Amino acid sequence: MENVVILGGGPAGCTAALYTARADLAPLVLEGEPSDDILPGGQLMTTTEVENFPGYPNGVSGPQLMADLKKQAERFGARFEYKTVSSVDLKKYPFIIYVGNEKIEAKSIIIATGASAKYLGLPAEQKFLNHGVSACATCDGALPRFRNKPVVVVGGGDSAMEEALFLSRFAERVHVVHRRDKFRASKIMADRVLTHPKIVVEWNSVVEDILGNDKEGVTAVLLKNMQTGQIREIPCSGYFCAIGHTPNTGLFKDYLELDEQGYIVTKPNRTATNIEGVFACGDVQDSYYRQAITAAGSGCMAGIEATRWLESKE
Ligand code: NAP
Repeated sequence: MENVVILGGGPAGCTAALYTARADLAPLVLEGEPSDDILPGGQLMTTTEVENFPGYPNGVSGPQLMADLKKQAERFGARFEYKTVSSVDLKKYPFIIYVGNEKIEAKSIIIATGASAKYLGLPAEQKFLNHGVSACATCDGALPRFRNKPVVVVGGGDSAMEEALFLSRFAERVHVVHRRDKFRASKIMADRVLTHPKIVVEWNSVVEDILGNDKEGVTAVLLKNMQTGQIREIPCSGYFCAIGHTPNTGLFKDYLELDEQGYIVTKPNRTATNIEGVFACGDVQDSYYRQAITAAGSGCMAGIEATRWLESKE
């Protein structure tokens, strides 16, 4: 039986692993198998440059930061496995985690499953997924199909700014489509976009449809101006959706208290959930800060809380 099973290997999961490993609990971290939907290591794996994680005065790439966090936890005995959890039973104790037919028993669980990219819900997003449609410029932006061609980014938050700035390295022109006349993004990121010579902002606009064909994938988007109702076609080879994220809480909805957006509810200023021995940290329980450093901070809290809870039981 495992002392602590940590679900998710992003900054929250890795930091929870570091703390529980240093408490001699030999945590098991289940990261998920690499696939189109899952990139073990969390959202930082698709982030180019992280400039706001303390301790890296010159910035660090997302994958490098994740490699460092993982290595630090492994040094103290944390075990990382690429396994995708199919279901959990949190009504039984010890808790049960199923990975296909494999059954893992755990005295405590730390949930750090993060959040996934949202799409607008247009049928063409599915049709052209990986054929010009993406929610990750860092993963796909350097592909030949986007080089020296116009591309479109949807959204007005920091993610959209980051995607647009990254794409501007390769694309001929980046159109940022935002439904309002003001960005939600932080001022520093918004200013970089607004002053970039290759980026054009399409204010008060929404994507009505994505056009393309089987051979070429995406070839254009139809934009509707919300104020005038005018519809315009913008030729492009790529459509990048950057409108936020949904917490990955589907596995836990029958057991844990979730808020109206689906985030796990934890005790005020804590990581304890409504089930004793189950803790949640990082983006799966934080709809407000959603930063790598706050995820790591709450991973530390979850590691300490799980350790103290296990001590109190023994
Ligand atoms: P976000 O801040 O929630 O922004 C989402 C954006 O998408 C908003 O501008 C929103 O428009 C727009 N949007 C949402 N649904 C839409 C829809 N159906 N149609 C059209 N537009 C839609 O999400 P985020 O940008 O992913 O950022 C999340 C958090 O991570 C933030 O706290 C952010 O600061 C942080 N973050 C930081 C960095 C960084 O510092 N480098 C990078 C990425 C993310 P409205 O503005 O009209 O609501």
